[in-house]
Amino acid sequence: ASGYSLLRDPHHNKGLAFTEKERDAHYLRGLLPPTVISQELQVKKMMRSIRKYQVPLQKYMAMMDLQETNERLFYKLLIDNVEELLPVVYTPTVGEACQKYGSIFRRPQGLFISLNEKGKIHEVLRNWPQKNIQVIVVTDGERILGLGDLGCQGMGIPIGKLSLYTALGGVRPSACLPVTIDVGTNNEQLLNDEFYIGLRQRRATGQEYAELMHEFMTAVKQKYGEKVLIQFEDFANHNAFDLLAKYGTTHLVFNDDIQGTASVVLAGLVAALKVVGGTLADHRFLFLGAGEAGTGIAELIALEISKQTNMPLEEARKKISLVDSKGLIVKSRMDSLQLFKKPWAHDHEPIKKLVDAVNGIKPTVLIGTSGVGKTFTKEIVEAMAALNDKPIIFSLSNPTSQSECTAEEAYTWSKGRAIFASGSPFDPVEYEGKVFMPGQANNAYIFPGFGLGLIMSGAIRVHDDMLLAASEALAAQVTQENFDKGLIYPPFKNIRKISAHIAANVAAKAYELGLATRQPQPKDLVKYAESCMYNPAYRSYR
Ligand code: NAP
Ligand code: MN
Repeated sequence: ASGYSLLRDPHHNKGLAFTEKERDAHYLRGLLPPTVISQELQVKKMMRSIRKYQVPLQKYMAMMDLQETNERLFYKLLIDNVEELLPVVYTPTVGEACQKYGSIFRRPQGLFISLNEKGKIHEVLRNWPQKNIQVIVVTDGERILGLGDLGCQGMGIPIGKLSLYTALGGVRPSACLPVTIDVGTNNEQLLNDEFYIGLRQRRATGQEYAELMHEFMTAVKQKYGEKVLIQFEDFANHNAFDLLAKYGTTHLVFNDDIQGTASVVLAGLVAALKVVGGTLADHRFLFLGAGEAGTGIAELIALEISKQTNMPLEEARKKISLVDSKGLIVKSRMDSLQLFKKPWAHDHEPIKKLVDAVNGIKPTVLIGTSGVGKTFTKEIVEAMAALNDKPIIFSLSNPTSQSECTAEEAYTWSKGRAIFASGSPFDPVEYEGKVFMPGQANNAYIFPGFGLGLIMSGAIRVHDDMLLAASEALAAQVTQENFDKGLIYPPFKNIRKISAHIAANVAAKAYELGLATRQPQPKDLVKYAESCMYNPAYRSYR
């Protein structure tokens, strides 16, 4: 290959870091200015230029440019500056990027599979340059973050998630495949936008939708084998639960919005109990919001309670109540409830308002997953604080504007007694001379390590016990020093180590359940996980 094309190949390009010898050997003489610099200096320089941008979207675009020109430098930057750059390549900035995807779109970085490709998905997969795929993140763009239907522009999400698979979980970038399924959009604004990049039609539903998804699921398993992990991302709940149930028995599938959220929140609860006391079974849980996140978390809590106490799952579920847009989910509503809500219809009189549910049910744990901000009012937080010495309050809705309450509100209204975590990050809060560090229940704690655990054990199915194993591993990473600061999640800067522990625990569970195909089982799974992780340091070319 010519030096000129080497500089334009993002997988091999090193820019000014090409050594004198490499410049001679690979026809690079004259194509680069004479200085040779280290990757470390390149990182320093890039960070300086990214920090100069005031607008988050500009930072995002600079990062995407880097990913397209020098992949190893991109990952080195992301890994070495994870706390600073995570909000740039992922939420919240990626949301804005998706909204503007049509205009910032330069070079496609994933596969677009639309209704036009029906019957040809196998050929489409053949067009992708990489053949050994280990993880696919796929969206149909119908419920992008808290932003709703962004159609084909949802592509920013699989790209962003997969870059975290590599940076945080150590999955090789060439083994990652971002996919957007385009069946149209019901977003009028996009349909009327002359620059919209997707199919200009309303969403296909029913059989037409199911057939395209099925062709996709069949084609990827045929092409990449049964060990390829398919992560469903940002599907609307009317499809998400069905897809997971339908393909859970034939494919290695994982839904981050349902299962990843459940695992990260359970980890936070388990850690919180070390501060509050009692076992999960000793607590009562109330949710505002009964969708993918709410029912997903609720189900995993119930599963863990039933494991810990040998209580039947149905009994364990009774410790958990959910409120949706119509009020408390109760038996009398059974006939009109969506399938995924039915297990939560308890024998209870109907209640409309959250505050009445709090006073009626007297929860020790209150979790917001409704997507509606400012719903944990002063009255509600005060009611939780009146009922509990240390009320556990999680405001998980994103973005920040949709948070059920802010960290400051939770701490002040509870007079400094709340154990608080949120979906979006909040700064530390000072209350009566004490500093409180709010936890962020970020899914990025779990899914990269979870995926690595599946891949390194050659797992062929996801089992709920693996989600519990991931929660347990994450909760175990919170140190006494963290607890002393009020933290119920470990600091993000150690994420690669955290991911290795999660991966090891998930893999151990896969072996235990007989779902692992990589034999023999490595002796030390943590070490093995670390040894599997992608390292972005430059290779030397001879
Ligand atoms: P979803 O499937 O659409 O569910 C939303 C639920 O909230 C539905 O049950 C809906 O009721 C209910 N709801 C809507 N408005 C309400 C209101 N005014 N009062 C009471 N309930 C209301 O969405 P999702 O995927 O679960 O996501 C929900 C939120 O959780 C989003 O903001 C998301 O960003 C956040 N989230 C956070 C994390 C995290 O912190 N790691 C992870 C995942 C999601 P109906 O069923 O009656 O329509
Ligand atoms: Mn998601």
